[in-house]
Amino acid sequence: MKWGFWGILFCGIFMLIGKAFAIEIAEMRLAEGAPGSVRFVAELTEENNPKVSRLENPARLVIDFPEATFSKKAKAQQFGKTGFVGGVRTGMPLAGTARVVLDLPKSSLTEKHFLLKPQVGQNWRFVLDLFDNVPEIIPAPSKAPVVTKEIRPITTQATVSTPTPLPVVPPPPQKRIIVLDAGHGGQDPGAISRSGHYEKDITLNMARETKALLEKAGFKVVLTRDKDIFIPLRGRIKKAHEANADLFISIHADSAKNPSARGLSIYTISERASDAEAAALAERENKADIILGMDLSDVDPLAGNVLLDLAKTDTMNKSAQYAKYVVREMKKTVQLVPNAHRMAGFVVLKSPNIPSVLVELGYLSNKTEDKNLQKKSYRQDLAEALVRAVKAYFADLAE
Ligand SMILES: [Zn+2]
Repeated sequence: MKWGFWGILFCGIFMLIGKAFAIEIAEMRLAEGAPGSVRFVAELTEENNPKVSRLENPARLVIDFPEATFSKKAKAQQFGKTGFVGGVRTGMPLAGTARVVLDLPKSSLTEKHFLLKPQVGQNWRFVLDLFDNVPEIIPAPSKAPVVTKEIRPITTQATVSTPTPLPVVPPPPQKRIIVLDAGHGGQDPGAISRSGHYEKDITLNMARETKALLEKAGFKVVLTRDKDIFIPLRGRIKKAHEANADLFISIHADSAKNPSARGLSIYTISERASDAEAAALAERENKADIILGMDLSDVDPLAGNVLLDLAKTDTMNKSAQYAKYVVREMKKTVQLVPNAHRMAGFVVLKSPNIPSVLVELGYLSNKTEDKNLQKKSYRQDLAEALVRAVKAYFADLAE
């Protein structure tokens, strides 16, 4: 009877310990993303929210996964210099804490991280993006103490008596960056209204006016063009990446054979168009590049990024979330097309890591909408709705 009791007790203890370390870091990846960015990914067998902190001298980023351990595969993984990340080290400084350390050239790199829910049959993914915003000359290695390759384990006693919190350097409060893309420009007028107005002029006016409102609301805004110039579609995406955009909004106005067609619509990326109309529209908008004889519509701007697929999932969800708010806010302001949020393969929305939407403000082929879009007061109403949607979207992300 005695043994039975102790047996059960031991079993219970072992089961508890077993459960405590059940989460495994199955695999890790490190890759260069968009120019000036590096992405670290850890595949996790279960949901886990690691603590991310920074250490100075030398600069490094520490990711502590609680109640986790490394799989054999992850333990054996080695990473050389990738982009500006000097290397990756792993260790178990405390029982039950799996630690990953990224060596950085400097401490001013900005960082974003998030957790992705698993798709069927896959692991959870912890994703951390590091961005080098300000080009800076990396100083020559100083006489800073040499760090040993292994992370020194902290003894349990030392941890209990002198808990030494990691010196976390909070990133400076940053303004959200929105890139507004005025569709078309230069040799490419876009759609032309019956009264002779060009889409490229309406989109530029709208972009400038929306910029002013967003800046008033505390956002940082970058325009892909602030004059009547031609920019290829890939150039627009590049500008969004250079600006380190949190959100990309491409502004357009549509045209249709049927003069009574009217209403505002908003598009997000999808390989498969939501309907034939959306597919035809994407084809029209994607033709911008052919004007200068460079049809790049099939070229993925950041092809070769091994982590494209997983970045896309999160970005597509966020794009759809913003689109939802645009529909909600625009509904209060103007007439929308039926099922106003649509999907199609617009080249300009192909950034794998920047949530992107394309707004068609209305139909220039419709007399009323053509006239309306010439009015500053009308555009102001649309711009205000876009700004309300931006605020709602970022308020969600802040939660
Ligand atoms: Zn257009």
